[in-house]
Amino acid sequence: MILVVGGAGYIGSHLVKELVEKEDVVVLDNLSTGHREAVDNRAVFVKGDLGNEEDLLMVFRSYPIKAVMHFAANSLVGESVTDPLKYYQNNVAATLTLLKVMMKFKVKNFIFSSTAATYGIPEVDVIDESTATNPINPYGHSKRMVEQILADFAKAYGLRYVVLRYFNAAGAHPSAVIGESHDPETHLIPIVLQHLLGEREQVSVFGSDYETPDGTCIRDYIHVTDLAAAHILALEALVSGKKTAEIYNLGNGLGYSVKEVIETCEKITGKKATVEITDRRPGDPARLVASSEKIYNELGWNAERNLEQIIKDAWKWHQEKRY
Ligand code: UDP
Repeated sequence: MILVVGGAGYIGSHLVKELVEKEDVVVLDNLSTGHREAVDNRAVFVKGDLGNEEDLLMVFRSYPIKAVMHFAANSLVGESVTDPLKYYQNNVAATLTLLKVMMKFKVKNFIFSSTAATYGIPEVDVIDESTATNPINPYGHSKRMVEQILADFAKAYGLRYVVLRYFNAAGAHPSAVIGESHDPETHLIPIVLQHLLGEREQVSVFGSDYETPDGTCIRDYIHVTDLAAAHILALEALVSGKKTAEIYNLGNGLGYSVKEVIETCEKITGKKATVEITDRRPGDPARLVASSEKIYNELGWNAERNLEQIIKDAWKWHQEKRY
């Protein structure tokens, strides 16, 4: 059985929907930001807290866990700057509790959700896994700290792990049953689509004076279904013993500016956005684009869905909006 911690959240719930086709799954989630309804009903659901050792002991005693996939984290850069305690508590300390219980039960396979924020402001145009990590906010630090903990646990206790560094997760399940549902929403694509649905008055573009061709920030958007597929390949590689300690980037390898994303949303929806240029958002690097060649070469994964497909699926979900 696979334990998915944070399986009611945006990326976790999309992974669970794919994983239940292949494995028995138990989801542990405290529903602080996730949605119970987003968890596929073929998975066992346990409401509980990752930082609470008793909740974890109950799950590990009750189910024969062979691997853990960990999606339960806070992930807002701005919030991490104003409330670092929350980020180090939930993202680092709670993960240590999980790892401690895993070691106690001799569960040695771990897939960890990390982030492009571990790279900080990179000096290269395309980031690969050898690019230096240099986080610039507590969120990025918290993820990088766990990466270090995993490397040390691998050496000392024989933990086997795959770290997946996501770039900009976006889109929704092609069935439109689940999608990106944050409250409050801070991410670009859902904000633009909410505006085009009449739920917001305008879209603010956070800065148009960056050193990029159109002055707005460039990001690498990756479909959440492609992310889910990468997790399943990583899990197979770990459980089969093919991989023991790896870090992979997950991106499209293509960068799109904020203006290009808004234009693509307009094209897909046939609606015109009202856009206002505002100040830069603190902590935003001008450009974050991944090389995902390593995971392509080693596990055969690449992103199959481009920005248009991401926005098409997101739009379908936003119009029907369930969870
Ligand atoms: N962004 C924006 N307006 C918004 C939300 C985001 O201009 O209302 C920009 C943001 O500054 C960044 C890009 O869109 O350059 C992607 O931001 P998002 O929050 O979606 O993801 P992040 O890159 O922070 O993980």
